[in-house]
Amino acid sequence: MMIDSTELSHLRRCVELARQALEEGDEPFGSVLVSGDGAVLAEDHNRVASGDRTRHPEFELARWSAANMTPQERAAATVYTSGEHCPMCAAAHAWVGLGRIVYVASSQQLAGWLSELNVPPPPVRTLPVNEVAPEVTVEGPVPELADEVRELHRRCYARS
Ligand SMILES: [Zn+2]
Repeated sequence: MMIDSTELSHLRRCVELARQALEEGDEPFGSVLVSGDGAVLAEDHNRVASGDRTRHPEFELARWSAANMTPQERAAATVYTSGEHCPMCAAAHAWVGLGRIVYVASSQQLAGWLSELNVPPPPVRTLPVNEVAPEVTVEGPVPELADEVRELHRRCYARS
């Protein structure tokens, strides 16, 4: 996959947000919402340590976009994320009509890493975004940053 340096910098920010989540005692996931003309509009990281397991950053960004953007703006926007959207977030992304997704690590990669770490499988099946939202343009994985994301997940489960 070909991504330019601007896109790579958005993905680096996602990894930074994932690291921040980990340092705050949460799971390492981070996402950034960027408008069609390249402005960073919103960003978030996982907040499931609160006890609400739906507090994924991609879900928060989908809700934020529905509250703050027109349908045209949403369609032109891109969501960058450290890990591919789970089925819940992919559905939310598609329901609000957001545009492209660019991720560092695929759900399949993540599932493989977590299984190596003996983490029990999640209660929701792991599926590629396009299995849930066939019309969304999805790009990834991005090998330049994947090792960094893998290391964050390793640290997340090594501490418990
Ligand atoms: Zn999710």
